[in-house]
Amino acid sequence: MADTQVLIVGAGPVGLTLAVDLGKRGIRCVLLETKEAPAFLPKMERCNARTMELYRRMGIVGRVRAAGLPPDVPMDVFIVFSLVEPPLLQLPYPSVAQAQAEIAATADASQPLEPYQLISQYTLEPLLKSIAEELPAVAVRYGHELTAFTDNGNSVTAHVRRSDGTTADISADYLVGCDGGTSAVRKQLGIKLQGDGNIGQFRQALYRCDDLFERIPIGKGRHYHVADAQSSFLITQDSTKHFTLHATVDSDDEMKTMFEKVVAMPVAYEMLSCAPWKQNLPREKLIAMADVEQRKSNEMIGAELGYRYAGSPLIWPEPGEAPEHDFMTYRPSTWPGARLPHVWLADRTAVQDRIGYGDHYTLLRLRARADTSGLEAAMRSTGAPFRVLDLDDAHARDIYGHDLMLLRPDMHVVWRGNVPPDDTARLARMAMGH
Ligand SMILES: Cc1cc2nc3c(=O)[nH]c(=O)nc-3n(C[C@H](O)[C@H](O)[C@H](O)COP(=O)(O)OP(=O)(O)OC[C@H]3O[C@@H](n4cnc5c(N)ncnc54)[C@H](O)[C@@H]3O)c2cc1C
Repeated sequence: MADTQVLIVGAGPVGLTLAVDLGKRGIRCVLLETKEAPAFLPKMERCNARTMELYRRMGIVGRVRAAGLPPDVPMDVFIVFSLVEPPLLQLPYPSVAQAQAEIAATADASQPLEPYQLISQYTLEPLLKSIAEELPAVAVRYGHELTAFTDNGNSVTAHVRRSDGTTADISADYLVGCDGGTSAVRKQLGIKLQGDGNIGQFRQALYRCDDLFERIPIGKGRHYHVADAQSSFLITQDSTKHFTLHATVDSDDEMKTMFEKVVAMPVAYEMLSCAPWKQNLPREKLIAMADVEQRKSNEMIGAELGYRYAGSPLIWPEPGEAPEHDFMTYRPSTWPGARLPHVWLADRTAVQDRIGYGDHYTLLRLRARADTSGLEAAMRSTGAPFRVLDLDDAHARDIYGHDLMLLRPDMHVVWRGNVPPDDTARLARMAMGH
């Protein structure tokens, strides 16, 4: 028997979230991380709406929001010469509180159940680590680097070097590479990195400046893109007392001058860290680029909510033309493979909440007319956790467009219809991946 069921390599946001998810489902896992502890370095600072829906299902959304940017702080984006001159452009984005009010008032399934949350990676990682450590099924191992692994057919053995120089082998049923852009797991599997890299060379510095946010005369926001030759870009972190600045300059010292130039008013501040990093974007046409990039990162609601497993062997091949996938616009759909759109029921509960969290497949019956006993028997015969949920709700039936839907544990649609398909055994096998 293997030492653990799942070995997760890398405790960034992805590996930590996976550890919490598996741990909450009672699946034994070991999380390996090279670093001795989470680093206080700025990287990501926004969890998107889908991530927050998943955190809601996992029961940790309140803890993530409590650790992040307060709900009433604006998320606006500015394009500026400095923080004291009238902005060239101000793109308004709702605060979390405003977005929650909009979600509560929206009935057409075009909104997520949870809005985004600004939370710095250096806040999120320690939070997720502490949650993972509360779970008996999870063993969190910092100071443990995966050096290589051996595929044994039915299991995998990870070769690990601890930070004290000792080594160990850990066997697992599955190994998951969550080890970031330079992933050793990806490289050993021979998977190539896709896309263009290293187009822009930036410096990024982190500053502590306690009163700046309250004093910004042009308005409070999340991002300030500066129309200068150094492509400077100031980011408010979740505490509103920390800021990062990105700029194309040659030395760490110049990052102090750049900060003072962008802020353009006397403030007491401390530069906490500074490091070079590479960006995959062209530098010319800064205003247009910043505008487009911001719109992409803030308005990709179609990508966040409308992504779909297309052509998957685990998804029923519905005949006909699937709806087009549009990154920028979300059109709710229950086409097989899609995430189940968020719908409020007549009693103001959310369908997603009624389905709940666990490892079960769900047959959702929105109008209990058809005989589904054959499909239920076929699903139960696979041995997988399965349950039937009756929601006799005309509005939900209207939005979802079908009486019946078979959902996977991750709430993606496997199949939909008004009567079960003739070959229910085939559908059940397909859903399970048999
Ligand atoms: C300046 C900057 C700003 C960004 N802003 C955003 C943003 O606003 N929103 C957003 O979504 N993303 C943003 N990103 C990208 C974001 O940081 C990454 O998408 C995110 O970190 C990816 O998370 P991850 O868990 O996949 O990988 P990582 O965060 O890279 O974590 C991988 C982990 O694996 C560990 N590891 C690596 N190799 C091994 C090994 N062999 N053994 C054990 N452990 C190993 C590493 O130490 C690391 O902790 C930004 C990135 C940068 C650099």
